[in-house]
Amino acid sequence: MQLSLSTEEVLFRANVQAFVARFRAPGESSATPDAALLEAWKAALIGAGWQAYKWPRSNGGTGWTAVQKYLWERACGEAALPPDIGGMGIHMIGPILCGFGTADQQARYLPSILDGSLAWCQGYSEPGAGSDLASLKTSAVREGDHYRINGQKIWTSDAHKADRMFCLTRTSSSGKKQAGITFLLIDMRDPGISVTPIIGIDGRHSLNGVTLDDVIVPMHDRIGEDGQGWTVAKGLLTHERTGLAFVAESRRKLRVLREAIVSRQGHAPLDDPSFTRKLSVIDVELSALETTELRTLAETAEGQAPGVQSSLLKLKGTWIVQRMTELLVEASGWLGLPYPMEDQEPPTDRIAPAWCQDEMQQYLIARSASIAGGSDEVQRNIIAEQVLGL
Ligand SMILES: Cc1cc2nc3c(=O)[nH]c(=O)nc-3n(C[C@H](O)[C@H](O)[C@H](O)COP(=O)(O)OP(=O)(O)OC[C@H]3O[C@@H](n4cnc5c(N)ncnc54)[C@H](O)[C@@H]3O)c2cc1C
Repeated sequence: MQLSLSTEEVLFRANVQAFVARFRAPGESSATPDAALLEAWKAALIGAGWQAYKWPRSNGGTGWTAVQKYLWERACGEAALPPDIGGMGIHMIGPILCGFGTADQQARYLPSILDGSLAWCQGYSEPGAGSDLASLKTSAVREGDHYRINGQKIWTSDAHKADRMFCLTRTSSSGKKQAGITFLLIDMRDPGISVTPIIGIDGRHSLNGVTLDDVIVPMHDRIGEDGQGWTVAKGLLTHERTGLAFVAESRRKLRVLREAIVSRQGHAPLDDPSFTRKLSVIDVELSALETTELRTLAETAEGQAPGVQSSLLKLKGTWIVQRMTELLVEASGWLGLPYPMEDQEPPTDRIAPAWCQDEMQQYLIARSASIAGGSDEVQRNIIAEQVLGL
């Protein structure tokens, strides 16, 4: 394995670092970027054609090699800037349209995903179908040139802001349950859609329940053939799980956490060897994950989903995120409480603003990382069966 960068890669790294430095000087990365900076950054990504850098070049991606993608993510992660314009359009349905969509579907949807004007949500989970997703019941009945959809989805992130939902539906109940699933794109403005908020443990609204009552979907919004939705869905999940490794982001947060602890007096458990040992364990695990992600990317053909190895990345990536938020709370002590202590001034030297939310909010929302995108137990089952061959 070649461990040093080639001359071209060193040049590429200098170029992307210079691009990033136009928005954030090196050393500014401790604070979370504000909304105005993020807007300017996204516009610059779109201007450069890098907003969907992982996609195939023929569909609007960059055609970068695995190493180039890694160097780009590292440069962005160091500056606390997102490496793409984000959203389920770029991360999930876009790659699926590139791989499974017809030319007509690609022409209809990819431009509005690439310019960030169309927001998407994911309609997979149902009240009775999460880990056992193939048990889903939302029905799609063929009527001439359209499907009629009835059913219920749950845990649908950002459904209240979405223009479209990519949705798994049941078109047949006979035979193997995976064989009766069809992948449809649904217009969230359809009068049969109602969205009910679910407030998360962190007090925020991103989750929703979605009821579909006689929703109509034209045939041209079906991805793949009738009954082939499971194949499409599985491809999509591997994209989702790679994005959930959070390597560059975790690397920056770990550095910020370490710096904050070193610079602060009084609340810092740096003299506690059990705390510093935990920090070091995360550091080592993160380096191992980084290498594994790089290897996985190198083994994946351009524009393809990385395969079942994405379960490894997701499992370890979320483990690291959860352990780091535990250390964040531990390091913050009472300063991390979501409410003021009696007779105490509100703290001014909190660590968490550099990460983005309050300490306790981050700790709480990180609990969901080992559930969303497929639970830890399910990832372990996949690794056992499909990676280790047990
Ligand atoms: C923050 C967040 C955002 C989400 N966003 C979306 C979204 O946008 N769209 C969407 O469709 N879904 C979304 N989900 C839903 C998510 O995909 C499901 O919660 C997840 O797949 C687990 O399903 P479940 O909640 O029904 O739990 P269940 O499947 O009921 O599982 C309950 C417990 O049993 C364990 N378990 C289940 N089966 C097995 C097994 N075979 N072996 C061992 N253990 C098992 C699980 O690991 C879990 O601990 C989101 C979830 C969260 C937390």
